[in-house]
This record gives sequence, C-alpha cells and structure tokens, in this order.
Amino acid sequence: MGYINKKLKNIIIDMDKSFSISLGVRKWVKKSIYPKHNLIIKSKSGCYCTNCHKEFYSNAKIYEYITCPKCKENLQVRKCTLQYQAFIDDFRIIDYIDGCFILRGFEVKSTYNNFKVNHNIAEYQRLVIDKDKKYLLLSNIYKMFLITQSVCHNEKHTKWRLHNNYYSHWYYSKGSIYWGELKKELEGSIYQYCPIERVISNYTGTDEIENILQRILNYPISFELLSKLNLTNLAIKCNCFKNKGSFEKRFGVTKDCLPFMIKHNITITELNILKTIKRKNIKIIRRLNELSCFDELAKYLDMVKALDCGLNTGNEHIYRDYLDMAERLNLNLKDKQVLYPNDLMKAHDKLLKQLDDIENQEIVEKIKIRYEELKDNTYQNEKYIIYPVPTFADLIAESSMQNNCVRTYNKRYAEKEVDLYLMRLLNKRSKSLVTIEVRDNKVVQSKIKNNNDCTKEQLLFINEWQNTILKGRNIYA
Ligand SMILES: [Zn+2]
Repeated sequence: MGYINKKLKNIIIDMDKSFSISLGVRKWVKKSIYPKHNLIIKSKSGCYCTNCHKEFYSNAKIYEYITCPKCKENLQVRKCTLQYQAFIDDFRIIDYIDGCFILRGFEVKSTYNNFKVNHNIAEYQRLVIDKDKKYLLLSNIYKMFLITQSVCHNEKHTKWRLHNNYYSHWYYSKGSIYWGELKKELEGSIYQYCPIERVISNYTGTDEIENILQRILNYPISFELLSKLNLTNLAIKCNCFKNKGSFEKRFGVTKDCLPFMIKHNITITELNILKTIKRKNIKIIRRLNELSCFDELAKYLDMVKALDCGLNTGNEHIYRDYLDMAERLNLNLKDKQVLYPNDLMKAHDKLLKQLDDIENQEIVEKIKIRYEELKDNTYQNEKYIIYPVPTFADLIAESSMQNNCVRTYNKRYAEKEVDLYLMRLLNKRSKSLVTIEVRDNKVVQSKIKNNNDCTKEQLLFINEWQNTILKGRNIYA
C-alpha cells in the first residue's frame, strides 16, 4: 500500500464530504443496468419475467436468451428449480474536485432467489487523476487474494487505502460512465466549456479514459478548440498541439487541409501521414496508417509510390531491412531502381549476401593477422604440436571435423577476444585432435571431438605448453 500525502488526504476528505450516490445515478442504474440483471423462469405452467413480473407462454429452451414479450428485455431462460444466481456489472461516475478528475468505480451485484432479484450498489474504488499523477484508492470492501479480486457487498466501507501498483492493468476502472455530475462541478473552472462528455463518449480508439482526462487537465484550451472544430480524434491527443501561432505551426499542414481533416475526423497518426505525403486522399492515408514502419520507410521512400510498387503490411519489415542494408552498403538511395526494386525479396537477399561476404572478408583478413601475432606460441614435442589457427578456412574445417561450435568463435578470435589453438599429432597434422581456447594466456577449454575431454597424456602436454610458453608471455606482456 502506498503513502497518502497531504494533498491526497485533503482530496479524500473533500470527496467524502461531497460525494454521494445521487438520485440521478440511481435512476440511471435502474434504467441501464438493473433490467439486464433478470431471468425468465420457466415452469410447466409457463414463463415468468423477474424484470416486469409478467407471465407469458414460450417454448424457449432452458439457458436460451429470449426477449420478454412484455418488457422487451433480452433475458436468459432458467428452470423454476433454480436456487441462486448472481449478476455483476461495473459502472463509473466521473467527478471533478480540487482540480482533479475522479473516476469512481462501482459494482452492481444482483442476486436471484425465489422468483425475486435483489440489486445492490457498492463503491469500491476511486481513481484520482491529477495533472501529473494518478492515484488508485481502494475501499476496504475491495478484497484481493492472489490474482482474484472481489467486492464484498456485505461489508461497510470505512476507509480508503492507496494502491501503489495501479499500473497493473486490471486495476483500471471499467464499466459505463455516468456523466450527470460533471457539468455542475466544472462550472467556473477553465474546463467549463470543454465538451468532455461528447468527445469521450463518442471516442472509439484505444486510449484509456484516465489518460485522456489527464491530457485535458493539462491542455484544456487545445482540447476545447479541437473539439469545437469537430476534430475530436485530435482533441483526444490535445497534448500534441502545444505549438501556438498559425494553423501550419499548430498542425504541420496548410490551412486548406482543414475541411478534409474535419470531414474524416482524422487521428493523430493520420495527420502525421498527411503531413508527410501531402495528399488529401483518405484511402491512401488509411492504407499507410496500417504500416508499423511508416516513419522509418518514409525517410527514404515516396510512400504513395511505394504503395503502388507493392508495399504492404506483409512486406514492410523486409522493405525496411532492405533499405537499411542498402544504406550500409552505400548504395545510391536517390536512385529509383534502388528504392523501388522490382522483386523486393530477391533484392533483399542479394544485399544480405553482399553484407555477409564483406563481413567474412574482414574476418579472413583479421585471422591472418592473428596468426602472425600468435605464431611464436607454437610448441611441439616428439608426438604433438600446438599452433594458433592460421586461417578462417582452417577454423571452419576444425569446427566441422570436431563437430563443435568453434565456428561461432571466428568473430571473437578475429576481434582478439579469445585465442584459438589447434593441437595435432605431428605425424597426422591434417587431422584435427584437440581445439584449445585461451583467454589472458590461460587455457580455458580444451576439447576433443564432440566436446569430449582430452586424455591424460594430451592434458600433460597442454599443461607443459601453458607453463613454458603462455606463462612466459604473461610475465613479459
Ligand atoms: Zn419482462
């Protein structure tokens, strides 16, 4: 549980003084939620609707949903032997107090028993939305046990506690919203003329209402202006329009775009695309809006042309990789043939191979240098010889003969992160025997085929080499 600071403490006191469940709320819940919390009870003599208390005849099956012919409510049909059934729904009240929006979370719990349904309302959470913070207050009637939460309708609310882990998404407020209190509460504040209810209740995007409310707290003038222009999707993102001055400064497009923007109630991402392509074509804009790499691709491409050339959500990532490689290979990114290849996949694979070859070529050169640096560590007796890996090809060959992963060491060997040596029988120098990995002049691994350990004799020789040759290097290094 979190620490309740003084400001929040005062808000809690103010809320407890002025918040209630008004008659308006009760009427609204009675109309919008209670009717759904009912059943049609079927017995031999007919059907009974617990909502309108009327009887009628129907051949509907048990568990089926049917519309009551009297009250027109769509309800589930259950047997008359049913003992108990509960219905749960959430709703919210939005309030404004002390410069904060409050989303009050309620649970409606209705229980069926003996042909009757009882309804109960309990407020279990308050989300306090400040200009820069959000606080989730939970009532003592809100019970959490491991991952399950429930509202205890039998208990009385006594105090609020601050939940500091409100970011866990399931704590967010949910349910339909009662707006009836807000208008009066906003009177006299700078939010008085913000059409918050109209904009938010018609919004179909994915932004959380708590985030939208916080933006409105911070940018009420932008919000009001954009809403009044009927650019409600942009009003939702009123924080993105902080620039003052001309239309172009505010929106990044010329003023003649305004009717188009209003007509399609464009979103912020659609506006960014309009800014880039400068074409008032909503079909193209919405197609481009589906791309997740739009910004990266638009750095290089004329996006409208790219669409014509086959860019789509299925190949955009390949296209991005392709352009990325083209840049690394210093290809001319002004050349239309580079930018819009006829066969994207083929062009992509071609560049990938070129990059691979270049990288391998670098490794080949570096390994040659490594050999020159390490060749003085070569050591032999009458049976064995140890010498550094001379070439990239030798490394690959050793790897496949030994069936080990030394191949993946090539880069680290080339970059001097490890030293790699081969140990062979003097009379069979072409056949691999032991691969030795050395770091800081110490043997860290010596493996024979299939990553098995060496024989005692081999180990003795490796030790001797380490003690006489490598240790000496350490001293004089
Ligand atoms: Zn009915």
